[in-house]
Amino acid sequence: TARNGHEPEFIQAVQEVAETVIPYIAKHDIYKGKSILLRMVEPERLISFRVAWVDDNGIIHVNRGYRIQMNSAIGPYKGGLRFHPTVNASILKFLAFEQVFKNSLTTLPMGGGKGGSDFDPKGKSDDEVMRFCHAFMLELNRHIGPNTDVPAGDIGVGAREIGFLFGMYKKIKNEFTGVLTGKGLSWGGSKIRPEATGYGTVYFAQSMLKTKKETFEGKTVVISGSGNVAQYAAEKAISLGAKVVTLSDSSGYIYDKEGIDSDKLAFVMDLKNKRRGRISEYVETYSSAEFHKGKTPWEVKCDVALPCATQNELDKQDAKNLLNNGCICVAEGANMPCNTDAVHEFNNAKILFAPGKASNAGGVATSGLEMSQNSLRISWTREEVDERLKDIMEDIHDSCIEYGTEEDGFCNYVKGANIAGFVKVADAMLAQGVI
Ligand code: NDP
Repeated sequence: TARNGHEPEFIQAVQEVAETVIPYIAKHDIYKGKSILLRMVEPERLISFRVAWVDDNGIIHVNRGYRIQMNSAIGPYKGGLRFHPTVNASILKFLAFEQVFKNSLTTLPMGGGKGGSDFDPKGKSDDEVMRFCHAFMLELNRHIGPNTDVPAGDIGVGAREIGFLFGMYKKIKNEFTGVLTGKGLSWGGSKIRPEATGYGTVYFAQSMLKTKKETFEGKTVVISGSGNVAQYAAEKAISLGAKVVTLSDSSGYIYDKEGIDSDKLAFVMDLKNKRRGRISEYVETYSSAEFHKGKTPWEVKCDVALPCATQNELDKQDAKNLLNNGCICVAEGANMPCNTDAVHEFNNAKILFAPGKASNAGGVATSGLEMSQNSLRISWTREEVDERLKDIMEDIHDSCIEYGTEEDGFCNYVKGANIAGFVKVADAMLAQGVI
């Protein structure tokens, strides 16, 4: 804490891991006295750089770019880039730290990293976004590579941004390699990558529900966010027979009592991905829906909640509301959307609760599959990738059960994910010596 006291999100993420991993270390001699956790919380490298770019009116702007290379014990650094005005070292360090455990859980050989900028893509023209991405890559290129560090998308970085970033990397290096994931299908991207985080979250929740002999069929599902993860979590939940009743963005949430069906979801995808509009516009087209300005959807009665927007969007009171309304399962699609108190509420109530590092790992897992396809210079079918994604999510679920099941049979998925993720990275670090 002394060294990172000014980084609240990072400390929050580390504390959550420490709560479960320190008792585990204490019981296992091979990890004792090796300062393993101390080494894991210190990034191997933290790069911060100036990004200067020119807007459509000829005005010069300066943003700050980052790449955190957290841990490469089990593979090249891997993790997304976030473009959002709130981005700072604390947020990226928390994300990079979580990424190390998540990537370990996927069973694929990927280390952990994260990066981004305080650049805000909202309200910018395509040309401005392109100039920013090119300027960002002018510096980032010297720190990444297909065997060193492979960034992907995150909040504010989707297919458009990955295209601009890839274009500049290729121009500088004069080579076509899998240096970024989330690429377009015609230039090295993997089928199912856009869908993977949302689908994977629902597959994970499906496995959790199965332990209670439950399914998504007929369940009411509340989802926050309306970006990449939320859209595909909704798509998969709907296809499994659930009734999805909410979506949100940073201005509020929409509640559609009749359910958001496939046609309505197609409208949302067009609104958010092409027209770059606000979720409130949904109610102008669908009269069955209400818009709740400035609020989050956790006050809506549901069976399953999937927080898919951003960190700390669900607090203790929200958790109590969900529990009082009979919610039986919460799977995080976003990274750390539930704050520490909310997680404790869910685990004390012994409902099904999955931390993002387990339930949203499908995105990076499919990025790992994209890397494999790039190396092999082949392209798997949609069915092949989806099958692998399903298998990986089931394996992660099994690992959580293995390490997280308590004496009374309750599975603490937080504990399970943290310990399973830790063991693989710690063993690799021990084998590689003190570096
Ligand atoms: P997008 O940029 O596509 O969408 C983000 C959504 O969250 C938008 O609806 C956005 O609303 C909302 N949001 C962002 N910031 C805030 C905020 N401060 N308050 C309220 N709402 C907010 O991002 P993704 O869907 O890709 O990412 C969502 C979450 O999932 C993040 O936590 C990310 O780290 C995590 N994740 C993403 C993966 C991926 O593959 N994309 C993989 C694993 C995790 P608005 O438009 O108003 O900003």
